[in-house]
Amino acid sequence: YFITFEGIDGSGKSTQLKRLAASLAAQGMQPVVTRQPGGTPVGDRIRALLLDSRTERLAAMTELGLMFADRAQSIAEIIGPALTEGRIVLCDRFTDSTEAYQGGGRELGSEVVLQLHATMCGGLKPDLTLLLMPDFDRALARARRRNERNAPKGGNEDRFEREGNAFYRRVFDKYSEIARREPLRVVVVDGDRSIEQIHQSIVQVVEERLRN
Ligand code: C5P
Repeated sequence: YFITFEGIDGSGKSTQLKRLAASLAAQGMQPVVTRQPGGTPVGDRIRALLLDSRTERLAAMTELGLMFADRAQSIAEIIGPALTEGRIVLCDRFTDSTEAYQGGGRELGSEVVLQLHATMCGGLKPDLTLLLMPDFDRALARARRRNERNAPKGGNEDRFEREGNAFYRRVFDKYSEIARREPLRVVVVDGDRSIEQIHQSIVQVVEERLRN
């Protein structure tokens, strides 16, 4: 069973993924946890390339290609084998992120992303996608603070300056569009509640889906 977590920077998805993994583990299910970009040795190198702002700004198509190179490796090495074994897989970001960030944010459009997904990922679809949707301004403020903490100098901190609010607005809007297009797969989770409340609502959705 393949579950993905999605949302803009600062939406709290990674925290919620960890909480869900812990609660599934406590019930004796041993979920496989991974993230994209990254999660495999090759993927971690691709991630570093993508996030290192000291490298030349990547052309949008280069970024798109690297995202799918990473994803193909992740499917080959981690997700595919785990699903074949019947495990539950929790993945922090998947193709919806590429559609939102490169398709929406970088304005490549959805079509090229969905085409590449079909070719490079064999069209693998999550059974369930938990889309954390907080208030846009609050999430952005959180992501900025975290960025400043993590990268006081050099690093990734000029991403926000470089890309600005309009970029993240397009990402946010593309996520909304995906949710409207695929209401059965994508469950929108109200991200403006306490960590515990959000966790409880996610557990409820997951338990219900796993029963059916
Ligand atoms: O998964 P995480 O939130 O750690 O993402 C790391 C960074 O990569 C974020 O700043 C996110 O905005 C960016 N990203 C991206 N395009 C994707 C996936 C992630 O720009 N398809």
